[in-house]
Amino acid sequence: ASPDLAPGLDAARDVLRRVFGYESFRDTQQEIVEQVVGGGDALVLMPTGGGKSLCYQIPALVRPGTGVVISPLIALMQDQVDALTTLGVRAGFLNSTQSPQQRAQVEADLLAGELDLLYLAPERLSMDSTLRLLDRREIALFAIDEAHCVSQWGHDFRPDYLALSVLHERWPSVPRIALTATATEATREEIATRLKLTGARRFIASFDRPNIQYRIVPKNEPKKQLLQFLRAEHAGDAGIVYRLTRSDVEKTAEFLVANGIDAVPYHAGLDSATRAAHQSRFLREDGLVVVATIAFGMGIDKPDVRFVAHLDLPKSVEGYYQETGRAGRDGAPSTAWLAYGLQDVVQQRKLIDNSDGDAAHRRQLSGHLDAMLALCEAVDCRRTQLLAYFGERADPCGNCDTCLTPPESWDGTVAAQKLLSTVVRLDRERNQKFGAGQVIDILRGKTTQKITQFRHDALSVFGVGSDLGDGEWRGVIRQLLAQGLLAVEGDYGTLVLTEASSEVLRREDPRPVRLRRDPARPAAGARA
Ligand code: ADP
Ligand code: ZN
Repeated sequence: ASPDLAPGLDAARDVLRRVFGYESFRDTQQEIVEQVVGGGDALVLMPTGGGKSLCYQIPALVRPGTGVVISPLIALMQDQVDALTTLGVRAGFLNSTQSPQQRAQVEADLLAGELDLLYLAPERLSMDSTLRLLDRREIALFAIDEAHCVSQWGHDFRPDYLALSVLHERWPSVPRIALTATATEATREEIATRLKLTGARRFIASFDRPNIQYRIVPKNEPKKQLLQFLRAEHAGDAGIVYRLTRSDVEKTAEFLVANGIDAVPYHAGLDSATRAAHQSRFLREDGLVVVATIAFGMGIDKPDVRFVAHLDLPKSVEGYYQETGRAGRDGAPSTAWLAYGLQDVVQQRKLIDNSDGDAAHRRQLSGHLDAMLALCEAVDCRRTQLLAYFGERADPCGNCDTCLTPPESWDGTVAAQKLLSTVVRLDRERNQKFGAGQVIDILRGKTTQKITQFRHDALSVFGVGSDLGDGEWRGVIRQLLAQGLLAVEGDYGTLVLTEASSEVLRREDPRPVRLRRDPARPAAGARA
């Protein structure tokens, strides 16, 4: 960029103050900037809101030449470039949304040495014309944003990211910095390998977001529970409500509007003008609620999102962390609120069973779901468990639901035995498999039409579980699933045993089962 600046940390500090108007670097930012300014490669793992952008923007301004940023967030490039232009940084972008004339102008600016930063959609780099264009200009660095998009197992996989290893081959001496907020060990390794960054210095910031309060509640009537939560704690606040399906997005948004809450839907099925309008309202306004699928959120930088609510179970802890991480970027107290129930587990299993891909892929998805369930059924601090997932040790936070109201636990061994032996009886004596609803009706000794039809009232276990209510039995099933002592399968979510189930069922010295007691629910008629 500006060749009159002395290279090094002083220059970087100068840019930080003069251009961006900040007094000091945040913890890891300084080391990262130093590394890249000095020409070294970097792999940066930093939570959302941690301040990743400066890690490449400042080196791009300090080093001679143009900094090239590869980003999948085409919809946000204009905003990013506008924001930089306001600060006096000469920035441009190339992507498919532009007219040929617009692209030609950016290319001319680049060649004239008038761009400090050039944002590129990844598919541009698989075009020979782009590579030749970049050959004609000095490159300060390559920044690969949202680097987890290279991970084939991740939910944001972009095939074009696989081609980014070309950067190293074609420009071996240009420093590269890959950045992501997704950070399990496995994803880290995959990024390093696929982007040929195994030799890069790694910078791993803490993933703790102390201002976010994590809460996970049993799901009874999700929309009503959400409304209560919003009215009690977040009236007039901006927030995001995540739902799994488009139709639930629509219904939930309508429900909120009907109840006087300013809410709009967002999902990939809406036309792009509507999506853009809803997104920009969310960014501009103070108290809008966006009800969305996970299509919404990546790259959205709104500092005052006060809550993120999930009405369906996220597919993985990483997804949950990413999505909840959109709350509270300004550091003010914010809530991550998740309602989850047995039906979520059934639904997710079904999605996994029916998913494309080989057995290894399905095992991976199952592993993600299991980790998410374990977090939901955690008896200890949610934050401790969440951070442990990212390889970070943390003491109980004192601010999550389990810290504030430690769940009572109870000896659920006998209950588990009753439940598991009902599943065994159905299987062995009747060669049948049933879902949670029927199994609970058998345990509670209900004479429904379906019970009579299948003569389940003749089973020896009929009515042995009348000491617990429907909701309690659903809690038992959820926790047995989370502990791997029970499994669900197929389109109807039938219950089946696992290898570990037999340890609970054995006569001699059965494996004890500790269960957490769900908090009391005042809502009468709930169908948890
Ligand atoms: P990320 O890309 O990691 O999600 P951003 O780069 O968008 O995070 O930064 C998040 C917010 O923090 C932005 O509003 C940014 O301006 C601000 N920020 C980043 N670094 C600093 C700093 N050193 N001092 C003050 N604010 C900062
Ligand atoms: Zn806690």
